[in-house]
Formats: sequence, C-alpha cells, structure tokens
Amino acid sequence: MTTGNINVSVENIFPLIKKFLYSDHEIFLRELISNATDATLKLKHLTNIGEAPGVEYGNPVIEVKVDKEGKKLHIIDHGIGMTADEVQKYINEVAFSGAEEFLEKYKDSAKDSGIIGHFGLGFYSAFMVANTVEIITKSYKDEPASHWSCDGSPKYSLEQADKKERGTEIILHINKDSEEFLDDAKITQLLTKYNKFMPIPIKFGTKEETKTTGQGDNAKEEKITVDNIINNPDPAWTKQPADLKEEDYKNFYRELYPMQFEEPLFHIHLNVDYPFNLTGILYFPKLSNDMSMQKDRIQLYQNQVFVTDNVEGIVPEFLTMLKGVIDSPDIPLNVSRSYLQADGNVKKISSYITRKVADKLKSIFNENREDFEKKWNDIKIVIEYGMLSEDKFFEKADKFALYPTVDGTYYTFEELQEKIKDGQTDKDNKLVILYASDKDAQHTYINEAKERGYEVLLLDSPIVSHLLQKLETSKENISFARVDADSIDNLIKKDDEKISKLSEEEKETLKTTLDEVIPKEKFTVQLEALDSNASPFTITQPEFMRRMKEMSATGGGMFGMGNMPEMY
Ligand code: ADP
Ligand code: MG
Repeated sequence: MTTGNINVSVENIFPLIKKFLYSDHEIFLRELISNATDATLKLKHLTNIGEAPGVEYGNPVIEVKVDKEGKKLHIIDHGIGMTADEVQKYINEVAFSGAEEFLEKYKDSAKDSGIIGHFGLGFYSAFMVANTVEIITKSYKDEPASHWSCDGSPKYSLEQADKKERGTEIILHINKDSEEFLDDAKITQLLTKYNKFMPIPIKFGTKEETKTTGQGDNAKEEKITVDNIINNPDPAWTKQPADLKEEDYKNFYRELYPMQFEEPLFHIHLNVDYPFNLTGILYFPKLSNDMSMQKDRIQLYQNQVFVTDNVEGIVPEFLTMLKGVIDSPDIPLNVSRSYLQADGNVKKISSYITRKVADKLKSIFNENREDFEKKWNDIKIVIEYGMLSEDKFFEKADKFALYPTVDGTYYTFEELQEKIKDGQTDKDNKLVILYASDKDAQHTYINEAKERGYEVLLLDSPIVSHLLQKLETSKENISFARVDADSIDNLIKKDDEKISKLSEEEKETLKTTLDEVIPKEKFTVQLEALDSNASPFTITQPEFMRRMKEMSATGGGMFGMGNMPEMY
C-alpha cells in the first residue's frame, strides 16, 4: 500500500481562485471595502481597550478613487495597517484570515466589534478585475511602511516604502475586460448596492452643496464642496428599538427603497443575540399593483455589508412578500440554497422571524383592533398564505385572522363560531359558514341568507379556497358553503334562536285564535320572528301540502294573514 499527500501547488490554485471564487466579479469592491472597514474597526477596538497607546482614532474615512488615465482603482483606509511581517502572514498565505485571528485573540472584548472578514480569501477577489495589485501599508505600530506587489502569478515583491500616514492603500491595475470598473457611475452603483449601510464612512469624490450663512436680510447662499459620503454608517436596524420613533422607521424605509412612495403599514424590529445573532427591521408594505414594488425585496446583510436580496430559504416563503432588512453573521453564505434550508441555525432564524411576525400582528390586534381591521385587506394575503404553509403560524394567527361579513363586520374565527353556533347548522348539527366571493354577483342569495338571519362572509382573496379547506380539516364540526339556494336550504335554524316580538299574553291570545281557524294538520304556526326584521309570527305550509295545493290550483290567501312567508 502506498500513501501520500496530494500535491497542491499555488500555481494550480491561483487561477482557480481567480476564476471560481465568486461568480460575480463586481463583489471585489465589497471585499476590499470590507477589509478597509475591518482594519478601521480593529484600530477603533484597540484604542478603546487601550492597546494602541499614542494613537488618535479620530473620524477615519475610507476613500475610493478612480484614476481613468492610469486605469487604476485606489481603496484607501486609515485603519490598523500592516507591518512587513503581517503582509507576509496575512496576504502571502492564501486562506489565512487576519480577521479571524483578531477575533480569536480578542475573543471576549471584540465579539461585538462588527468585524466582517472570515475566510481569508476576500482580498484575492481583486485579481478577478486586476492584472496587478499593489498594497502600500503602514502599521499603527512604529515600523516602516511596506510595498507589496503581485502581477497575478504566485510571485510577489515586498519592499520598504516611505508612506508616512497610518493605514493601507490598495491599488488595482484594472484589466482589459474589467474597464467598466473605471466608470464613476458604475462605482457609485456598486457602492450604493453593497456598502450603503457599512459602519465606516466611505468617500467617493466630492459634491456641491448649498449652505446658508448669516440671518435675515444678511442671509447668503453659498456653494460649498463637500466629501461625497455614499453610506449611512448608523442604519436604523443597528439601533435599539427604544431609541427610535415611528418617523425614524418610516425614514429608514424611504432610505432603503428610494423609489417607493407608498408608506409601509407597520414595522417589526428584530433583535436577538441568543442562540444566534440577528437584527433587522421588517415592514408590511401596502399592497400595490405597481410592479416595481415586487423588486423591493428583503435585503440580507452580514455585519452591515449587503449580501443579497434573495432571502429564499432563510425567511419562510410567505414572508418574502415583506420588505426590509435582516442582518446576521450567523447565516452561512458561501453555501448553496438547498444546504441553507437544512442548516440548523437557518431553521432557527426562520422560525424566530415567523414567531416575531405573529407576535407583532397579535399585539396590533390586541392594542388597536380598529386599526388592524383597517389594514386587514392589505395584510390578509400574507397571513392567509402563512396559515396555509406554516402550522406554527396557523396556531398563532388563528387568534387574530379576521373573517369579514358582507356587511363589513370583522370576526375572528372564534367570534364567528360563537355568533352562529345556535342558528346556522345543517341536519348533522354541523356549523355551516356561508360565504360569498363577489358581493354584486351573489347579491340575491346574500340577501336571502341575510333575511333569514344568517351571517355571510365576504372572502375574496385568491387563496381563500385553500384556506377554507385547511380550516375545515383543522377545526371540528364546521364546514364552509358558498351562499346559494342549496346551501341556504340545507340550514336548520333552531327555534330557541328566534326572536320573540310578542308578549306572552299576545302569544296566548293569538294561539287560541289561530288554533280555532287553522287546521293543524295543514299548517304550522310559529310565534317567533326569524330575525329582527321579519314578521312577528309565521304560518307555514308543509311542502307536500303546498304541492297538493298547486295541483288542485286552489290558490292561497285562505286566511288573509297579510305577508305570509312560506317555509319549506
Ligand atoms: P479576511 O478578511 O476574510 O480575513 P482577506 O483575504 O479579505 O481575508 O484578507 C486577509 C487579511 O489581510 C485580513 O484578515 C487582514 O489581516 C489583512 N488585510 C487585508 N486588507 C487589509 C487592510 N486594508 N488593512 C489591514 N489589513 C488588511
Ligand atoms: Mg476580507
């Protein structure tokens, strides 16, 4: 038997990294800005814990510069920097992550520092768009600066440099195929997509602003040039819910979706750190027919770096109709979607989100039922879909899901059951819930049912038939029936439900009188009204008698009792 090591040489791996590391070339910028952010956050952390004596942290900004003539892109930070030894260690060793080492070393104090890096591969994504990459870096430690350069072959050069300022400059010599990344508009687009909420300010060029100086008559408008900062380093979801007002949530919605003018219905602030880390804000949007709306999806971030707006597999499907952001370092991102669905953490995250959404809905329902009813039409599709697809959600939503009647009364299922329990059953004593899906088209039967004192629901959402099936199987002794002649006829109204409009005395007199004039075997007399709008009593002719009467063509009006409803 022979054993041995498979020979992995850098020459073989390097081109593979370049080609297959990321399917999307554009993420190189996200990776390099993440490294610049990490370097700055590390310095911040070290100054905070007193491990960087003599260093003034200040207000460091990360800068991106395009050099069109030189076909170069610069990413400059004022972070921790690297010594020559550190360049050897962190850069020359592929897949050695300085970020991970830092977190390991400062385990207890740095766990909330927001450091992004993880795999020790991000830096090399620069070679997807650049032939040659240079690093000029000076550590916060008192050591000379270094200049590293690599032309994409595994050979590199490292020499001393005369950079005085602390921090790192990465220079990409953009290759022929990637010249789009020398275009200002393209860089702006990438920065807005991936870096809009990163924690360190990112500068890309300058912009003009109008500033008013002086007051009253002396007020002057002045054009001034300011840094063009493309990001908001403190997005709402990173703050405590207690520190935010309703208006802040609305403003953040607009910041997330600048093209969306409709206000959200309400928000849900997510905030957990055990057993996994997750923050975010979800919004229930007002449903609209506007197709551009569909494009505004939930965005997934990791430590404030945009990852994707495809949250399939992470958020239960019925909630993908919501908007907003989720930020979690605990979602494994470099893995396939099918793996995601099986991942334990992701499952927990998904059920946490479901629970939070259900709890929020419940609390709006409890605290302001009127408001909840007003919003129902806009939120019902999400809730009904959730009840259909997630049993856990069904259990919770069953307490607040609403069933509107054709007259605009909203019942919960329990309230509806209570309301109709004595008066709307079939011959097997099963509760029959009548519903219509179109008020106008079905108005004849709706009216007939109402005249007889039945409740008719108006259920018009596209998935309602599935939901009714689900309710029929999960609840005992109920069934749904579309309102029509048959379904109305199948109902048996119990007598004790009927409303008496007559006093006991009147009933007594009426009974004796009627007993004398009406042949008992031909008619039934009922001394209660069917509902508050109906006549005080009814005389009913049994079906067979009616038929006989028709056959002999003797006609009605025998007793001249006025309006005499016939019941069969
Ligand atoms: P990761 O960020 O996952 O650790 P990278 O391949 O992106 O891996 O970077 C490798 C390492 O190189 C980083 O962990 C860090 O130690 C170092 N590094 C990269 N860019 C910078 C920078 N701008 N400033 C200081 N150190 C850096
Ligand atoms: Mg990195």
